[in-house]
Amino acid sequence: MDGANRASVAAAVPSAGKHAETAPAGGDASPIEVGHWIGGAVAPPRADARHATLWNPATGRERGRVALADSAEVDAAVQAAVQAFAAWASTPPVRRARVLFRFRELVETHLGELAETIVAEHGKILSDAKGEVQRGLEVVEFACGIPQLLEGGFSEQAGPGIDAHSIRQPLGVCVGITPFNFPAMVPMWMFPVAIACGNTFVLKPSERDPSASLLIAQLLRRAGLPDGVFNIVQGDREAVEALLAHPKVAAVSFVGSTAIARSVHETASRHGKRVQALGGAKNHLVVMPDADLDQAVDALVGAAYGSAGERCMAVSVAVAVGGVADALVARLAERVPRIRIGAGTDPAAEMGPLVTAAHRERVLRYIDAGVSEGATLVVDGRGATAPDGGEGFFVGATLFDRVRPGMAIYRDEIFGPVLSIVRADSFEEALTLVNTHEYGNGVAIYTRDGDAAREFATRVQVGMVGVNVPIPVPMAFHSFGGWKASLFGDHHVYGREGVRFYTKLKAVMQRWPTGIRAGADFSMPTSE
Ligand code: NAD
Repeated sequence: MDGANRASVAAAVPSAGKHAETAPAGGDASPIEVGHWIGGAVAPPRADARHATLWNPATGRERGRVALADSAEVDAAVQAAVQAFAAWASTPPVRRARVLFRFRELVETHLGELAETIVAEHGKILSDAKGEVQRGLEVVEFACGIPQLLEGGFSEQAGPGIDAHSIRQPLGVCVGITPFNFPAMVPMWMFPVAIACGNTFVLKPSERDPSASLLIAQLLRRAGLPDGVFNIVQGDREAVEALLAHPKVAAVSFVGSTAIARSVHETASRHGKRVQALGGAKNHLVVMPDADLDQAVDALVGAAYGSAGERCMAVSVAVAVGGVADALVARLAERVPRIRIGAGTDPAAEMGPLVTAAHRERVLRYIDAGVSEGATLVVDGRGATAPDGGEGFFVGATLFDRVRPGMAIYRDEIFGPVLSIVRADSFEEALTLVNTHEYGNGVAIYTRDGDAAREFATRVQVGMVGVNVPIPVPMAFHSFGGWKASLFGDHHVYGREGVRFYTKLKAVMQRWPTGIRAGADFSMPTSE
């Protein structure tokens, strides 16, 4: 990246303290101060604003602070989006797409910088952070096809002398409220499709890792996005509540934990908004007796411990069917302790720290609960310390065997590097386990039997299914979403579902009379 580009992007992250020019990527240089982005510029927080502390999870040291918006700041962001809407909605889709093409190029150029910013605040390893930006970019690529995606239908002679067509029009101001675990990708599931459809957008990122969002805002501006089309309010519950109640907000996309997803869905619906709210998960991977065990073990290790288990598509339960359990546990017991933990910036690290000290404590409490509830602790990650002897928020990879439904470690989403093995006697028992679990985000089956795989995919009550694929995250031209307590609302995100969510359908019927008057007709119009 050339120096000029770096400087201009870094300027999006306002600094405090010793006036650092940029957000420190891996280190803990000068403290940063993260504010809002309203109407195409950084909006410094009010002097009396509340703040949340930002941490570097790998060192356990403070990195800076982020402003927490109040309802007046939320209103300023929404009003900026309202102002920008009419002109952006009437911009031809092909021109909107051109902005996204340029944005795509800029993100690719700045991918390393974005990934380093994610590592510094989230803690995940650098290759994983680059992967999340790449998956977000794929949604941008999808949204570049918006002229075709918005193509309507036309019926000539729908009635006598009448032609009919249907079109999709934007909703207005759309809001995205996003979780900490994918600070670039999850916003990129939402805003590229929303703005491609002609909406304007207000993003409320996670207050735990907000800096990536400001880099994205800066890149959108450089791509030629008009001011006010994309805005950011940093904040917590107060900002979310102000957004959900704001009369000028038309639609809300939320991704986060289930309790909050449910409440956001209810509150936004009550305020008359279109809403999709994606929640938590407890993803199972079923290992059938005929599975290739090497492949199954590799799949489990990557999917359970990648990103320290802080993924909504992480596998947290392995269901060992029939006689496969002992061999599976033996192989995992040998492999799991060798997972290398370290700072996300360490190229040798396979797993980084957890996001905060509080989250680390929560995960440790779950491991304690698993032990006291009688599960067999095969690999204990509780004693792990930061490899550099520092204060990072590390938990080692942990493995439980003989976990049973009813235990907290089976029931709850732990969101940490903890894999539970449940033993099932049959395919039916395994399927019933998955289908009776509260969550239904992702699931996978490992087998070489096509019949079993097909039966599983047909009957399983889960939104995303992998057959010998551990993390079945759909590509951008399909759509992403779970079932049951993993999604509240009717639409999955991105792909064609995203286009439907961010537009409303209009049907137009027209006749150009040739001078014949048929008189008033009091019966229901038909095609006769
Ligand atoms: P979270 O629910 O704590 O926070 C999500 C968002 O809600 C954040 O922007 C946060 O500021 C806001 N928020 C927090 N408390 C709130 C409250 N009381 N009222 C209103 N808003 C509030 O989630 P998290 O810890 O940031 O992320 C992890 C969770 O997200 C996990 O449960 C994970 O499964 C889920 N997730 C789901 C998906 C999916 O696609 N289903 C994807 C990623 C993450």
